[in-house]
Amino acid sequence: MIPFSVSTLKTEKWQQQLTASFRKVEELLDYLELAPHLHPSMQAAGDSFSFRVTRFFASLMEKGNISDPLLRQVLPVAAEREFVPGFSSDPLADRSFHAGHGLLHKYQGRVLLITTGACAINCRYCFRRHFPYNDHQLPKNHWQALFGQIREDQSISEVILSGGDPLSLSNSRLATLVEELQDIAHLRRLRIHSRLPVVLPQRLDPPFLEVLKKNRLNTSLVLHINHPREISPELRRALLPLRQLGIVLLNQAVLLKDVNDSADTQVTLNERLFEAGILPYYLHQLDRVQGAAHFSVDDHRALQLHAAMQARLPGYLLPRLVREIPGAPSKLTLPLSQNHE
Ligand SMILES: *Cc1c(COP(=O)(O)O)cnc(C)c1O
Ligand code: SF4
Repeated sequence: MIPFSVSTLKTEKWQQQLTASFRKVEELLDYLELAPHLHPSMQAAGDSFSFRVTRFFASLMEKGNISDPLLRQVLPVAAEREFVPGFSSDPLADRSFHAGHGLLHKYQGRVLLITTGACAINCRYCFRRHFPYNDHQLPKNHWQALFGQIREDQSISEVILSGGDPLSLSNSRLATLVEELQDIAHLRRLRIHSRLPVVLPQRLDPPFLEVLKKNRLNTSLVLHINHPREISPELRRALLPLRQLGIVLLNQAVLLKDVNDSADTQVTLNERLFEAGILPYYLHQLDRVQGAAHFSVDDHRALQLHAAMQARLPGYLLPRLVREIPGAPSKLTLPLSQNHE
């Protein structure tokens, strides 16, 4: 059983740092010396999808620059409240897949486990921004049911811990979770999808390394880094022990207008990732969620950009340009016409 309540008894250091995060737009703008830019609409947008930014992530932003690409990812703006046709509140139709269980089995051989709704940072383009997490909070005894489901299905070889952000769980909870999973004989791979190390490198602490060290499953960590400036010296340092443990480090980015939609930024991002020991995996076309349309880059431009990246990067540093389509058997590479059933 995952000890849901005990974990709060001892607060880990990174959890204290999370508690100190910016929770109000005006606090962050004040810190960035941008207070004159504060507009009532920012606060209003922040009401519908709460505002949350770690102090560490804020420290990577350029002071005095309202167009900073890191700030743009977290700053609520009036455009979020505009209704844009073609953008829905549940673009991936996850609610129908969910069935209240916290287990998404969309693709062959892999299941995605929604471990928590919490994130260390709230990205404005997030496709889960309207997701009714609270309706999907797992009852405590549900974990055993989930493990049972995985145990019964021999075709599952990989479990992906997702969320929210799985690394917002305490180390003791993660340890129990990983122990349960590695007891399932037919599982071979464990994957963790997380943005937390990027916004709080201290999260990769010694107890977490112990959890990984004790685990027999072939493990990968898929980070979510969108801009070269998110690869801080602190992150690179924190990733070193994971590399030494043989954890495979991958990155998925989201293509975002005025954040990373230039060839120069993308080339730099993928080169810097490699310097940090991370391989590019996916470059996602934005999921069409209401409130995020102002980040959207059309497929035609995305393909042009991808071609420009391909001309400048070694093949192993070129992420696959993909879009997720509900009901498809995998993420689909662009152009969509190239995919076969
Ligand atoms: C993205 C995703 C996966 C993983 O897909 P890969 O192509 O293996 O990275 C698995 N399950 C679900 C539900 C997903 O959304
Ligand atoms: S799930 Fe990922 S993209 Fe969405 S808010 Fe959390 S960290 Fe950001």
